Amino acid sequence: MTTDTFGSTLPWAEPPWYTGRPSPYYKESHRHLRNVVRKWVEENVRTEEWEAAGEVPKAVYTKCAKDGLLMPIAAGRKIPKEWYDYPIIGGIKPEEWDGFHDLVLWDELYRGGAISSIFVGLTVGAPPIRQYASPELRAEILPQILSGQKRISLAITEPSAGSDVRNITTTAEKTADGKHYIVNGEKKWITNGMFSDYFCAAVRTGGPGAEGLSFLLIDRHLHGINCRKIEIGAGKLSATTYITFEDVKVPAHYLVGAEGGGFKFIMSNFNHERVWIVFQALRGARICLEDAFTWAQKREVFGQTLISQPVVRHKLGICGKKVDALQAWTEQIVYELEHLSEKDGNRLLGGTTALLKVEAGMVGKYVADECVKIMGGLGLTKTGQGARIEAISRGVIGLIVPGGSEDVMIDLGVREALKLSKARGAAGTSRL
Ligand SMILES: Cc1cc2nc3c(=O)[nH]c(=O)nc-3n(C[C@H](O)[C@H](O)[C@H](O)COP(=O)(O)OP(=O)(O)OC[C@H]3O[C@@H](n4cnc5c(N)ncnc54)[C@H](O)[C@@H]3O)c2cc1C
Repeated sequence: MTTDTFGSTLPWAEPPWYTGRPSPYYKESHRHLRNVVRKWVEENVRTEEWEAAGEVPKAVYTKCAKDGLLMPIAAGRKIPKEWYDYPIIGGIKPEEWDGFHDLVLWDELYRGGAISSIFVGLTVGAPPIRQYASPELRAEILPQILSGQKRISLAITEPSAGSDVRNITTTAEKTADGKHYIVNGEKKWITNGMFSDYFCAAVRTGGPGAEGLSFLLIDRHLHGINCRKIEIGAGKLSATTYITFEDVKVPAHYLVGAEGGGFKFIMSNFNHERVWIVFQALRGARICLEDAFTWAQKREVFGQTLISQPVVRHKLGICGKKVDALQAWTEQIVYELEHLSEKDGNRLLGGTTALLKVEAGMVGKYVADECVKIMGGLGLTKTGQGARIEAISRGVIGLIVPGGSEDVMIDLGVREALKLSKARGAAGTSRL
């Protein structure tokens, strides 16, 4: 049980377990990780400088590898034995690393703003290689990725296939000698694409539908690949990219897993991706509340501080309860994922993590909107005391569309719930 206090003393600015309240989920090593990552972020993150330059310097990424950030980010909630020799920030023992270390790491990194955007490709692109690539391909690629020498991103979405992953049209046709695939097609909105050396890409190796999809690792430096940056409203440093493949010749041994396995691989990685988006929503909402509380206690309007107005307190109270409820649900899901096999986690929680992600987007948006209003003009200003809220409110749609968009996720949540209900034999038990 953890009962210490840490960080900001403002209401809801930190998770409940930072404020002296007990929690069954966090141990000494989580507390230690939290302290170390916060210090690392404070010492190393230069958001304004990097945003002005339009990129995070490459040396920062290599430092992240040395300081033990990259491997745990690529691993997620469990560190595979073959990665035990890579450094881990705070010296956490690899065998002790769990889903709550993952939560703490991301929560603190998100607090650092810009830095988190350069890890997106790694966190979604490396797991398929670790889980499904051949031992030879893993041995060739992963040391480059985990040491920070090379970078990877996940390339699934296309101009004509987003939510509808089954409709992917990028083709990978095997050459007559069986030694290569020839890739043709386009990928859109690929986060970190501009600075990636590899794309873990969903391609069509077979006929129509899900069964024809495979994963292929594509070296970005191959002839026939063109990348251009897509300008999006927020997350400038995440280098969102449009990629075209024109007769790109990819060695056949870069196939990840078996031909036709692509759709299953895409689906199996969503639990972690979605929970990780939730971590982002939580910290974003807490940052908004931290800055709104600071301002509301300072700003005098009509002769009294904003916080003296019941309407303002009401807004903050609604936001606070939503954030703490989201935190509690998230911790419950992290705990459940921790205690289920990968297979059971996907089977039992696929729909729930989709709904959790939806809730995170809704809470994130609600809190950001309310805090913008409390800040007044400062909430729309890119510099000064409202800057963090302005940036978060601009980027909040990034919690709602990528990683499975809201309506599609709600529908998935219900369909999965019905499937599980039927499997439990619930059909015919209604009294209606
Ligand atoms: C900033 C950003 C970063 C991204 N990063 C990556 C990345 O790294 N790699 C990658 O592969 N992709 C990435 N994406 C793509 C992202 O996953 C897709 O944008 C997302 O899946 C939605 O697809 P779409 O944009 O084609 O929308 P569409 O699929 O065209 O959907 C449009 C709207 O219609 C709704 N809709 C669709 N079908 C239904 C239905 N059956 N019922 C009700 N409503 C429906 C959706 O909810 C959505 O609101 C990123 C996107 C963005 C914006």
